[in-house]
Amino acid sequence: MNSDSLGHRKDYQIDGTNELEETTCVTAPVVSNTLGVNVLPDPTPQVEEKMSRFSAYEYRTQPGFDQNKFEGANQAIPMKTLVIHCFDPRAAEIPQKVAEYFGDEVYPGENILDDTGNRVGSTRTLFVETNAGGRAASALLSVAAMDYIFSVQNVVVVHHSFCGTTTYTPELLIEKFRDRHHADISTLFDRESVAIMDYEKSIRYDVGLLRSSPAVPKHVRLYGFFFEINSGKLVEVVRDVPAQIAA
Ligand SMILES: [Zn+2]
Repeated sequence: MNSDSLGHRKDYQIDGTNELEETTCVTAPVVSNTLGVNVLPDPTPQVEEKMSRFSAYEYRTQPGFDQNKFEGANQAIPMKTLVIHCFDPRAAEIPQKVAEYFGDEVYPGENILDDTGNRVGSTRTLFVETNAGGRAASALLSVAAMDYIFSVQNVVVVHHSFCGTTTYTPELLIEKFRDRHHADISTLFDRESVAIMDYEKSIRYDVGLLRSSPAVPKHVRLYGFFFEINSGKLVEVVRDVPAQIAA
């Protein structure tokens, strides 16, 4: 079985068919043992596969891929920077603006194909996480996950002018949600991350939250920006570069 640098299988045959609609799900329930490996509780001779419908698309199932020896995918995608910003469509140029500001980033870049057309990499160095307001609290898992797969060097938070999250206070959102949906979300989120009450404070708060979070490696450089949606101007508000890197 051929595989590329990311461990892609070059074909996705399951039981001799390429039909995605075909499923080779076993009928017996699959349970996990203590090693986290799926095993069948009662294997029968006719059950040879333990793959579920889309298992063939997992790196874990690719021949030659050993998750315990995975050393990252930076050779396939030279990712180094994660930009966290709001999903407001009026702020969509933020990643490009940050790439221009740093000057040594590739965004959007292009996919790298192998000789059979499989997408085996990309030239992009700057990745994007979007959420309501572009808040760090909603992006922590992405930082940890991207650090596992790549070598994250910079995390950038950008809040933008006329953001929808400046239309309410944390109390108002919680109160209205309770009225409309009869559900209490008051303890789900930290109050400072619920609404943008002051841009300088929210940007500094998010960079501080990233710096103090165990999900963000200590060597990562942090930046906070304000983006004005009408002029397209990006303003650096805070920079937190660990001393050993700055030296
Ligand atoms: Zn927004």
